[in-house]
Amino acid sequence: MTKRIIHFINGALWSGTAANSGDVFNPATGELVGKVDFAAKAEVNAAVAAAKTAFESWSRQSLTKRVEVLFRFRELLNQNKTQLAAIITAEHGKVPADALGEVTRGQEVVEFACGIPHLLKGAYSEGVSTGIDVYSIRQPLGVVGIISPFNFPAMVPMWFFPIAIATGNTVVIKPSEKDPSAQLFIADLWKQAGLPDGVFNVIQGDKVAVDLLLSHPDVKSISFVGSTPIAKYIYETGTAHGKRVQALGGAKNHMLVLPDADLDLTADAAVNAGFGSAGERCMAISVVVAVEPVADELIKRITERMAKIKTGDGARNSDMGPLITSAHRDKVASFIAAGEKSGAKLVVDGRAVKPDATGNGYYLGPTLFDQVTPDMSIYQEEIFGPVLSIVRVNSYNDGLELINKHPYGNGTAIFTNDGGAAKKFQAEVEVGMIGINVPIPVPMAYYSFGGWKNSLFGDTHAHGMEGVNFFTRAKVITSRWLDPSHGGINLGFPTHN
Ligand code: NAD
Repeated sequence: MTKRIIHFINGALWSGTAANSGDVFNPATGELVGKVDFAAKAEVNAAVAAAKTAFESWSRQSLTKRVEVLFRFRELLNQNKTQLAAIITAEHGKVPADALGEVTRGQEVVEFACGIPHLLKGAYSEGVSTGIDVYSIRQPLGVVGIISPFNFPAMVPMWFFPIAIATGNTVVIKPSEKDPSAQLFIADLWKQAGLPDGVFNVIQGDKVAVDLLLSHPDVKSISFVGSTPIAKYIYETGTAHGKRVQALGGAKNHMLVLPDADLDLTADAAVNAGFGSAGERCMAISVVVAVEPVADELIKRITERMAKIKTGDGARNSDMGPLITSAHRDKVASFIAAGEKSGAKLVVDGRAVKPDATGNGYYLGPTLFDQVTPDMSIYQEEIFGPVLSIVRVNSYNDGLELINKHPYGNGTAIFTNDGGAAKKFQAEVEVGMIGINVPIPVPMAYYSFGGWKNSLFGDTHAHGMEGVNFFTRAKVITSRWLDPSHGGINLGFPTHN
């Protein structure tokens, strides 16, 4: 039996009247498990109206009261994380340990947001002029929109909404239509935590709902995560409608391996970061740049490890699950065919995989290409699947130049035992997040997450202080409490004395 997946508006499930819906599959079996309603104007307007009304009182709640709700939400999330992880596995396909990891990383942002009273403190300067004090405050924006991708149905929204809510905003989120249930579960946790109705709303849908959010006059900001062409569109459309926008896009993350690197550590890292979550992570490593003479030995060690990866469904202790849809699996397979055609050497072909699973899941095994060159589509484009490419270069400088020329700049890593080389790399590489002997350098919640170049449109990265600044507007107050001795007419421009 398929379930119907609906919206959550003003503190309750909301069935709405939308004419369109989408299919939700279990990628591990290929079974149709649900039908998700697609919001149209009525649902989007209802969600934004509920959020706008709730903003009136939520933004005025004391910091202490807001934080009480956040702490309760954190406890409920922690208690229910296994259940949430199971929901993620059922609709996304990632194995349970990976799903649990995603919830934990999202929870860290909730914990960061629990410290909002400290983070929102402004500055105060006494006596900037005779009898005059200046101080700054930050206030919430209003209704904020969040649009999220399929690959982290719990964590990516949690990069944004804990801070948005803690700073006094109200939220309308549109999750990916491919795995929409996680946010409904989270909405219920918020309700149990005592969050007032209307502060957290979920609308399900596709481009129609997104476009309605982008143009709605009462939506003050958009936080988007997804592929680069859509991120660019969101940034351009949202800003044209006067909104504050942060739009995080796709990636092609390179791992530079210097000849002095520890090759076992490096091979472990390349395999974990290349094939974890079937390569469907924006911080996945998809290109290993091997500085010669290291390539042959590194490929040998990577291949040995790849042979041990168990591909299959979440119920069988597998390491790597399926891809999100059959269409995406076929697209990734077509990249493998294109790589072969363009002359790359196919060392391991994942199309031959025999998954440990029942049914018709969307599996593709780990795939490795050697002799990849920058003109090939498997090098240029984001594949978003379990396909790792080796590019051979002759020097650190050649490797750096390659990375800096790539249009994406989300994450990168260097593997070396030379501290000087690592410092040089962190200074010279044009990428937002850098790992030094760490393959997936996802920043902790109190730092900010975001890439450079085509991996992020807008100025502000996610969470950390940049998140706090994104969801608030600054005011600076210059005040004088009456002192009759400083009265009098003076039409000159105010200067301090
Ligand atoms: P996607 O761009 O297809 O979809 C993202 C969101 O946009 C979804 O909610 C979707 O419904 C909506 N959308 C899709 N097409 C649209 C359109 N034409 N107009 C308006 N809205 C539209 O991305 P995806 O396939 O769900 O996710 C994978 C992508 O997300 C990859 O490119 C990955 O690199 C990227 N990603 C980036 C980060 C990051 O931090 N930079 C993190 C996670 C995922």
